[in-house]
Amino acid sequence: MLVSSRGSAARRVTRVIDLRSDTITRPTAAMRRVMAEAPVGDDVFGDDPTVRLLEERFAGLFGKAAAVFVPSGTMANQLAIRAQTEPGDEVITHPESHVVHYESGAPAALSGVTLRYADGPRGTFGAEAVRALIRPRDPHYGPAALVTVENTHNRGGGRVWPVEQLRAVREECLRLGVRMHLDGARIWNAHVASGVSLAEYGSLADTVSACFSKGLGAPVGSALAGDERTIARARRFRKMFGGGMRQAGVLTAACLYALDHHVARLGEDHAKARALAERLARVPGVSVDPAEVETNLVYFGVDPRFGGADAVCARLGEAGVGALSEGPHRIRAVTHLDVTADDVSRAGEVIANVLA
Ligand SMILES: *Cc1c(COP(=O)(O)O)cnc(C)c1O
Repeated sequence: MLVSSRGSAARRVTRVIDLRSDTITRPTAAMRRVMAEAPVGDDVFGDDPTVRLLEERFAGLFGKAAAVFVPSGTMANQLAIRAQTEPGDEVITHPESHVVHYESGAPAALSGVTLRYADGPRGTFGAEAVRALIRPRDPHYGPAALVTVENTHNRGGGRVWPVEQLRAVREECLRLGVRMHLDGARIWNAHVASGVSLAEYGSLADTVSACFSKGLGAPVGSALAGDERTIARARRFRKMFGGGMRQAGVLTAACLYALDHHVARLGEDHAKARALAERLARVPGVSVDPAEVETNLVYFGVDPRFGGADAVCARLGEAGVGALSEGPHRIRAVTHLDVTADDVSRAGEVIANVLA
């Protein structure tokens, strides 16, 4: 993104350091080349070899029998819900989850389910929170059919679920006979930050979704993995929801490229985020704990004297830094493939100056 600003004599063109989201990453030249050359077919007929390749690889990574490619992480989550519930069922999720905040009310609209909240620190919850929400089988109650967890947790500040805690929730779900979905939009970041394998994460849920369009830098696409029957159902609902795509191999070629080249490098994004948090922690009126920045998301508080997060973000935009207002006094900055360590360090100085 470019903005132009006029100096007194010459016109200067300043590049915005865009930290609003890792979704703003654009496909690299090498990624565009593999997209251009991908063998394709009509995927609704099951004829696209590059889509099949991605689906098989994705399923394999998480130790699942099958996977389905979808346009967005929202659709992946909604297919997971629709495929594993019936209208009137209850879905247990964290109150700060993406499913609750950013999916346009889809669980009610598309699956007819009720959401119930398992709360806990920074997007996580314990097995006991799930247990407390389960009620006896009785015609008064909508049965709890599904638990969803989000890893990393966006509004939890890019929090990585402690794997023992995930395992405890998984064991509780198995004991209760409730399915479990992992919203792994940023599971790649969790994997790189924690060293826990994707296969292990896969073993801790019935279905797993992940995005290629965020830190991995692909232009479009997410996938959902699970057992054959669940994914066959998801495939049927994908068509119903309007997500059946034709020569989608041009998109999955980018996803395959991202799996080969853009996973291990996420550690660099995490280091940039930590460095930014450390810089911001020294700015008077900013509240952030760098120790809580485990991945590529930096959430920080700004003192009310600065006039609120919207106003601060507008001033940052004018000064050449993109950041997102996430609450009255809370701002999010995200590191990614399209910003260098230098960019991020300059952004830290800009933020410090704007708030000086
Ligand atoms: C981004 C995101 C999604 C999906 O977002 P889309 O924009 O629909 O691809 C789902 N869950 C989490 C946690 C996310 O951060």
